[in-house]
Amino acid sequence: MGKPTGFLEYERQENEAIQPLSRITNFNEFHPFLDEETRRKQGARCMNCGVPFCQSAIKLKNMVTGCPLHNLIPEWNDEIYNGNDKRALSRLLKTNPFPEFTGRVCPALCEKACLNGLDQEPVTIKKMNCIQLKQPIKMIG
Ligand code: SF4
Repeated sequence: MGKPTGFLEYERQENEAIQPLSRITNFNEFHPFLDEETRRKQGARCMNCGVPFCQSAIKLKNMVTGCPLHNLIPEWNDEIYNGNDKRALSRLLKTNPFPEFTGRVCPALCEKACLNGLDQEPVTIKKMNCIQLKQPIKMIG
């Protein structure tokens, strides 16, 4: 847990959405990435829960809640907060081989299961999948 008071200090922030009539004029990203400082603050909102329902994929009434891939969400939120994007990505790739895809089209069951959502907005998890690296990561094994 990078910042114990992060969830009290920072509000959830989402990527802005480019209006549809502008989107159709080009092939650019239509949910531009959060800037680096904002991303770090969003990572700081994670409480590193003792029972992290975000990654649990528990079945409730025959429906899955939490990430079905068991992504190591609290771990990479902590790495993002501390500016260790390479380590965050290497943790993310342990369970998810296509984060650029899930970061865009996944229904984000993790966010629905996030305990921060009980009394405020859940942690921004889905868009954290699109970790931007300044240098390419060297894959091991
Ligand atoms: S449930 Fe939410 S606050 Fe708790 S560890 Fe998962 S992302 Fe962090």
